[in-house]
Amino acid sequence: MHVYNIDLTITNILKKYHQKGVKYIEVNINRLKENLIKLGWIGYDGKNKNIPYGDEGITRIAYSEEYDKADELVSKLMEKAGLEVYHDPVGNLFGTLCSDKRDEHIMIGSHIDTVPRGGMFDGSLGVLGALETVQILSENNYSNNYNLTVAAFIGEEGTEIGGTLGSRCFTGDIELNKQEINFFKDKGINYEDINFNSIDKKNIKNYLELHIEQGKILQKENTPIGVVQGIVGIARYKVTVIGEANHAGTTPMELRDDALVKASRLITKVKKTVEDVEGGLVGTVGKIKAEPGAVNVIPGRVDFTLELRDMEKEKMELVIDKIKAGFADNELIIEDDFYEESVYLNEQVQDEIINSADKLNYDYKEMISGAGHDANSLSKITSAGMIFVPSNKGISHSPEEWTDWVDVKKGIEVLLETIKSLDKSN
Ligand SMILES: [Zn+2]
Repeated sequence: MHVYNIDLTITNILKKYHQKGVKYIEVNINRLKENLIKLGWIGYDGKNKNIPYGDEGITRIAYSEEYDKADELVSKLMEKAGLEVYHDPVGNLFGTLCSDKRDEHIMIGSHIDTVPRGGMFDGSLGVLGALETVQILSENNYSNNYNLTVAAFIGEEGTEIGGTLGSRCFTGDIELNKQEINFFKDKGINYEDINFNSIDKKNIKNYLELHIEQGKILQKENTPIGVVQGIVGIARYKVTVIGEANHAGTTPMELRDDALVKASRLITKVKKTVEDVEGGLVGTVGKIKAEPGAVNVIPGRVDFTLELRDMEKEKMELVIDKIKAGFADNELIIEDDFYEESVYLNEQVQDEIINSADKLNYDYKEMISGAGHDANSLSKITSAGMIFVPSNKGISHSPEEWTDWVDVKKGIEVLLETIKSLDKSN
């Protein structure tokens, strides 16, 4: 583990660059901090005066009034940075530092919507961090080979018709049912337009996303940079356990078929089975309902949700097979409810991120993301990569979400280096 004084690190890097005759470009961390705080005030519901942190946190749902204000702020910041600003029909926002050498884009982005009572870093860091890198390159008269495009995708955190909405519309990964057509209609968006974008998706050479880890691993290991190898798949199931409802006073214990007692045994078995599988598989029972749900009736039926997350579908299927064992078909029913496939991010882009961290003398860890991101969608159309920075205590989707500024700076420096090397490659 290297422990560096920041100034010393920068001095070393400056020396290294000087020797190579390359101009060192330093990100403007104060400007980024200012922008993040400015964006954070939009939708903030709390008493803090210095920073939009704590209390009820920040609520900035896609297509809300607060979201529009946030979009307006970021559009203005993009214009001020000299970017060509463009909105697509669903409300994704793009700002491009144009190149006269190539038609293709290196896209760098994330989202500016939040969950209800969220924090100031999730998504916003990725968008404003991308803006800072592109702006600082432009201010240093960097001659970019590719169009460098900052993207703020709408509705990443979930809408009535699902999460990563804007990025899925952009990549064309959305099939519209009636409910979805109506959702867009309500917003004044013509559904025939939702896949239209003046940036041709075939022209996206790479996608990069800087994001907070939203977990505890980096902080626990005292590592500033996470290089994301993949994003887990999610499988959700509806589980029903059948017993026999009966009188709670007149039915002796040995004659009961209590569905809730059986469900409890099953939930404990889920935990044990998941822990026994090698790797990072996680399983959660988050919602449960007993029927008839009366104090004096033995439960006859219990329904609960089961969610599994892993890179490999086979492992999740194995868990289902194992927990089914020992139960008869008429007492346990497990139905598929939702499945999202895992994605592996591009290895070459991962290598570029690793080289950039090495160049800057920052420790890094290769890791899997347990949360979904816009990079899921983008990885389906281009070589995508993600950089994680530590989340304090692993807290996110909370008013207490925090990342230290020193880690924010390291993340943006790695992002900047990675953009530069991708811009040089074919
Ligand atoms: Zn996010």
